[in-house]
Amino acid sequence: MEAGIVGLPNVGKSTLFNALTSSVSAQSANYPFCTIEPNEGIVSVPDARLSRITQYIVPQKIIPAALKLVDIAGIVKGASDGEGLGNKFLSHIRQVDAIMQVVRCFEDPDVIHVSGNVDPIADIDTIETELVLADMQTLENALPRAEKSARGGDKDAKLRVSAIQKCNAHLESEQPLRALELPEAEAAAISSYGLMTAKPILYVANVDENDLAGEHELVQKVREHAKKSGASVACVCAKLEAEIAELDEADRAEMLADVGLEEPSLNVIARQTYRTLGLQSYFTAGEKEVRAWPFRIGSTAPQAASVIHTDFEHKFIRAEIYSLADLEEYKTEKEIRAAGKLRAEGKAYIMQDGDICHFLIGP
Ligand code: GDP
Repeated sequence: MEAGIVGLPNVGKSTLFNALTSSVSAQSANYPFCTIEPNEGIVSVPDARLSRITQYIVPQKIIPAALKLVDIAGIVKGASDGEGLGNKFLSHIRQVDAIMQVVRCFEDPDVIHVSGNVDPIADIDTIETELVLADMQTLENALPRAEKSARGGDKDAKLRVSAIQKCNAHLESEQPLRALELPEAEAAAISSYGLMTAKPILYVANVDENDLAGEHELVQKVREHAKKSGASVACVCAKLEAEIAELDEADRAEMLADVGLEEPSLNVIARQTYRTLGLQSYFTAGEKEVRAWPFRIGSTAPQAASVIHTDFEHKFIRAEIYSLADLEEYKTEKEIRAAGKLRAEGKAYIMQDGDICHFLIGP
């Protein structure tokens, strides 16, 4: 699962990308992502539950969940016509599972704004318009084929035609597909099109150092806009976060206290991106390591186990699961078992956020 970071030039994209991905490069051996290209990075997803678990189970290593972030440079007006790096930009977006758009809400006379003044809604519209146009093109190309198959009696093609018509009507009113509810079967019939405005999106408002809570009128506008189009919003001062990330632990704590933050905003953004991707975590906990693993919301236990190793899905026998509350009450796994709180769950079990588990795997 990966998210792509986009934004107009000079909004703080690189500053944020570097700050978000810098801390993990040293320990990337823990994460078996296929390949990491130069424009990609790994973002660690801090989770307070890990330190609660390790109060009772003391491991050699603690490994948080992680996600891949792709820096998608090159958006310009006219991208959907293949302008500039337009085509490359769009094909990158098609591949990611969620979009993180950085929008500039900070004023700084030293940092030029591409269109002259700071206007996050105009920035959002510029990118959204390109994505809407590109989606319309995709659907226009797909429609004749779907219609032909539908006339031949193909049921799935009939669903595609119906979905394309609804999507087109929605896009023509310049609305992203994220906000359109299609019947499940229709949505599934067009899922392979990689429609970009249907992807979940997180707007990251890059705010001034003196507005970390995001109370500025511009940020409120971003929130209102997001609400209408089914997006979520995070706030950060990228420049400040980049400085905080470089400090050692003691100085960092002091700096955070000075600016009135409980933790770096980068942590909050990592968790919001994780949620935007539709991910939750389960934990494995032993003396060797305590680790958070990402799974897609609604996954069965075998699907969730396959995140550890692809073989685990078909070799899955059962899972033994307990909760953090049980661990805090009974202190050891042995006592949890003795109290009858260690649940045995089978193949149909739907994994829950925060489950602590052992998978029993067959040969
Ligand atoms: P990109 O083109 O979107 O990747 O933007 P950069 O990350 O390169 O940032 C452009 C300029 O804006 C740089 O000079 C940054 O130091 C500055 N910048 C980034 N974030 C902030 C911020 O939160 N506040 C202020 N004042 N400047 C920032």
